Amino acid sequence: MSATTETRDPGVVTRFAPSPTGFLHLGGARTALFNLLYARHHGGKFLLRIEDTDRARSTQPAIDAILSGMRWLGLDWDGEEVFQSTRAARHAEVAEAMIAAGAAYRCYMTAEEIDAMRAEAQANKQPLRIRSPWRDRQNNDPSASFVVRLKAPTEGATTIEDRVQGSVTVQNAELDDLVLLRSDGTPTYMLAVVVDDHDMGVTHIIRGDDHLNNAFRQLPIIKAMGWREPVYAHIPLIHGSDGAKLSKRHGAVGIEAYRDELGILPEALDNYLLRLGWGYGDNEIISREQAIEWFDLSGVGKSPSRFDLKKLENLNGHYIRSADDARLADLVAAKLGLNADDSRRALIAAAMPALKPRAANLNELADGTGFLFVARPLPIAADAEALLSGEAPATLAKVHAALDAVGQWDTEALEEAVRQVAEAQGLKLGQVAQPLRAALTGRRTSPGIFDVLALLGRDESLARIADHAADQTAAQGKDENND
Ligand code: GLU
Repeated sequence: MSATTETRDPGVVTRFAPSPTGFLHLGGARTALFNLLYARHHGGKFLLRIEDTDRARSTQPAIDAILSGMRWLGLDWDGEEVFQSTRAARHAEVAEAMIAAGAAYRCYMTAEEIDAMRAEAQANKQPLRIRSPWRDRQNNDPSASFVVRLKAPTEGATTIEDRVQGSVTVQNAELDDLVLLRSDGTPTYMLAVVVDDHDMGVTHIIRGDDHLNNAFRQLPIIKAMGWREPVYAHIPLIHGSDGAKLSKRHGAVGIEAYRDELGILPEALDNYLLRLGWGYGDNEIISREQAIEWFDLSGVGKSPSRFDLKKLENLNGHYIRSADDARLADLVAAKLGLNADDSRRALIAAAMPALKPRAANLNELADGTGFLFVARPLPIAADAEALLSGEAPATLAKVHAALDAVGQWDTEALEEAVRQVAEAQGLKLGQVAQPLRAALTGRRTSPGIFDVLALLGRDESLARIADHAADQTAAQGKDENND
């Protein structure tokens, strides 16, 4: 396939540049994943920059959540993460260099003047596009307060050959003289992002398409500095199942909720995010290695993708089935709040093979172990009660007697004993297994009934069955003829 034979470019440098004003969300994680895969595919570098220039809105918990979310998803970046706020002096230096080169200017407009411009733009139903009177003027008052603005091009057009969006052109008259440095000397996002990408050697900018407009405003800075233009790839956003932009309204948007509340495995979320907006043939289950081999920007779709929790859970079920039992047992034990030395951990691990085939998430897996640890008499789920009425107590008495006589408590011997009871009673295996399941687990559904018996062990199993069996002497008396 072309993607595997194409030339690799080890000079590729990508980056993920989250603003730590909230938690790592699905869209951000997918952007990071695409950047990582593209870099790894080429044998290049994937960098992380925390864009914390907005000191008022950036928080340490958000930084921690981003870093831990990325580690959890295996989105391992190269080298140390860069904190944008530490680079303010460099940003100011570039702004000064741009003034010196005539590509930026000190603007002394007052707040009132800008308000008046805004009011005029609104009256004319035009977006506010600031072209300051100070573009070509000097102020002789050294104490006057100013911002540094980009001297944006006013004529011609700018075209970006975006690797996802295709060729996109914007008339330069639509650009504005955006602020590069605020009046307190701090850089704006527009300046900082360009300077940092340049200094970090970023060659490919892969980010959400909500930043496409920004690219046209950032390019004049790059051009003014004579820097190399990066390759852009603006990827469509993730929408909710109703087609609207993904938001809290659609449920969990933070990565940690998928881990902590929904019980999703990181490899399942990775695989899901990869397929959300990128494809390679009909492949659905794609390992990280395979993704690195195949990933290319040409496989990124142009339309927004819809988030579908059911699909994610299907993938999660797949990854749960193929996950190592000991690892799953650790995750389940953590969910149940068990200590590292809790003896029940071994039982949980032993239950994994029986529970894995049915579980779509770790919560179901944890829930499925519940029957192992409840004390007798078991609470019986409302929908399981009927299974324990009618003929059930008599049947359970027979089962009790048969199992009590089993020598080796293993699944084969147990199955044989239960089958014999069913045959002797002229019942189908299920007619015996269902009341047995209800007595052993208190539920209608559980892992295979012989696995349940084996996991619970002889004493506990017999005691649970006896709790719902008809009085055994009476049962034996009635059945004399069959013995
Ligand atoms: N910090 C920006 C954000 O979180 C991303 C900037 C970029 O990728 O260029 O939206």
